[in-house]
Amino acid sequence: MAGGSAIRGSRVGAGPMGESERGESAPRVRVVFWCARRHDTAIAFAHDVEVPETWDCPRCGLPAGQDEQNPPPPPRNEPYKTHLAYVRERRTDADGDALLEEALTKLRARRGA
Ligand SMILES: [Zn+2]
Repeated sequence: MAGGSAIRGSRVGAGPMGESERGESAPRVRVVFWCARRHDTAIAFAHDVEVPETWDCPRCGLPAGQDEQNPPPPPRNEPYKTHLAYVRERRTDADGDALLEEALTKLRARRGA
Protein backbone atom coordinates (compact mmCIF):
# COMPACT_ATOMS: atom_id res chain seq x y z
CA MET A 1 0.00 0.00 0.00
CA ALA A 2 1.73 3.22 -1.13
CA GLY A 3 1.92 6.09 1.34
CA GLY A 4 1.41 3.86 4.32
CA SER A 5 4.65 4.86 5.95
CA ALA A 6 3.94 8.55 5.40
CA ILE A 7 0.59 8.22 7.15
CA ARG A 8 2.12 6.32 10.00
CA GLY A 9 4.87 8.94 10.39
CA SER A 10 2.38 11.78 10.70
CA ARG A 11 -0.02 9.96 13.02
CA VAL A 12 -1.11 12.24 15.83
CA GLY A 13 -0.48 10.81 19.24
CA ALA A 14 2.31 8.46 18.26
CA GLY A 15 4.60 8.83 21.22
CA PRO A 16 8.38 9.01 21.06
CA MET A 17 8.50 5.42 22.24
CA GLY A 18 6.19 4.39 19.41
CA GLU A 19 3.98 2.52 21.84
CA SER A 20 0.73 3.60 20.22
CA GLU A 21 1.70 2.03 16.92
CA ARG A 22 1.09 -1.37 18.34
CA GLY A 23 -2.54 -2.40 17.88
CA GLU A 24 -3.61 0.73 16.07
CA SER A 25 -1.80 -0.31 12.93
CA ALA A 26 -3.24 -3.83 13.00
CA PRO A 27 -5.19 -4.51 9.81
CA ARG A 28 -8.92 -4.82 10.26
CA VAL A 29 -11.57 -6.66 8.34
CA ARG A 30 -14.91 -4.93 7.93
CA VAL A 31 -17.78 -7.39 7.73
CA VAL A 32 -21.42 -6.49 7.13
CA PHE A 33 -24.09 -8.65 8.75
CA TRP A 34 -27.73 -8.72 7.70
CA CYS A 35 -30.64 -9.76 9.91
CA ALA A 36 -34.04 -11.05 8.78
CA ARG A 37 -35.40 -7.49 9.06
CA ARG A 38 -32.79 -6.20 6.61
CA HIS A 39 -30.83 -4.27 9.20
CA ASP A 40 -27.22 -3.98 8.14
CA THR A 41 -24.49 -3.94 10.75
CA ALA A 42 -20.84 -3.31 9.91
CA ILE A 43 -18.41 -4.84 12.37
CA ALA A 44 -14.65 -4.31 12.21
CA PHE A 45 -12.69 -7.38 13.20
CA ALA A 46 -8.99 -7.55 13.87
CA HIS A 47 -7.27 -9.36 11.03
CA ASP A 48 -6.20 -12.28 13.18
CA VAL A 49 -9.65 -12.83 14.68
CA GLU A 50 -11.93 -15.47 13.25
CA VAL A 51 -15.05 -13.79 11.89
CA PRO A 52 -18.20 -15.46 13.28
CA GLU A 53 -20.88 -16.81 10.95
CA THR A 54 -23.60 -14.80 12.64
CA TRP A 55 -23.85 -11.67 14.73
CA ASP A 56 -26.67 -10.48 16.94
CA CYS A 57 -28.33 -7.48 15.31
CA PRO A 58 -27.87 -4.53 17.71
CA ARG A 59 -31.16 -3.01 16.53
CA CYS A 60 -33.61 -5.87 16.94
CA GLY A 61 -31.58 -8.67 18.52
CA LEU A 62 -32.17 -11.16 15.72
CA PRO A 63 -29.24 -13.20 14.45
CA ALA A 64 -27.61 -11.61 11.42
CA GLY A 65 -25.57 -13.33 8.71
CA GLN A 66 -23.15 -12.24 6.02
CA ASP A 67 -25.48 -13.13 3.14
CA GLU A 68 -27.82 -10.23 2.48
CA GLN A 69 -30.14 -12.33 0.32
CA ASN A 70 -30.34 -15.15 2.82
CA PRO A 71 -30.24 -13.91 6.43
CA PRO A 72 -30.59 -16.47 9.24
CA PRO A 73 -34.22 -17.09 10.25
CA PRO A 74 -35.48 -15.65 13.54
CA PRO A 75 -35.25 -18.12 16.42
CA ARG A 76 -38.46 -19.95 17.26
CA ASN A 77 -38.09 -20.10 21.01
CA GLU A 78 -40.25 -17.54 22.74
CA PRO A 79 -38.93 -15.50 25.64
CA TYR A 80 -39.86 -16.49 29.16
CA LYS A 81 -41.92 -13.31 29.55
CA THR A 82 -44.36 -14.58 26.97
CA HIS A 83 -44.97 -17.71 29.01
CA LEU A 84 -45.80 -15.67 32.09
CA ALA A 85 -48.22 -13.54 30.09
CA TYR A 86 -49.80 -16.73 28.78
CA VAL A 87 -50.23 -18.03 32.29
CA ARG A 88 -51.77 -14.75 33.39
CA GLU A 89 -54.21 -14.78 30.48
CA ARG A 90 -55.47 -18.23 31.32
CA ARG A 91 -55.88 -17.40 34.99
CA THR A 92 -59.31 -18.66 35.98
CA ASP A 93 -58.99 -19.82 39.56
CA ALA A 94 -56.35 -21.30 41.82
CA ASP A 95 -55.14 -23.24 38.81
CA GLY A 96 -53.52 -20.15 37.37
CA ASP A 97 -51.88 -19.31 40.66
CA ALA A 98 -50.48 -22.84 40.86
CA LEU A 99 -49.00 -22.51 37.38
CA LEU A 100 -47.53 -19.13 38.26
CA GLU A 101 -46.11 -20.52 41.47
CA GLU A 102 -44.56 -23.41 39.57
CA ALA A 103 -43.01 -21.03 37.05
CA LEU A 104 -41.56 -18.87 39.80
CA THR A 105 -40.16 -21.93 41.55
CA LYS A 106 -38.45 -23.02 38.35
CA LEU A 107 -37.07 -19.54 37.84
CA ARG A 108 -35.67 -19.45 41.37
CA ALA A 109 -34.16 -22.92 40.94
CA ARG A 110 -32.53 -21.83 37.68
CA ARG A 111 -31.03 -18.75 39.30
CA GLY A 112 -29.79 -20.75 42.26
CA ALA A 113 -28.03 -23.29 40.08
ZN1 LIG B 1 -32.20 -6.32 12.94
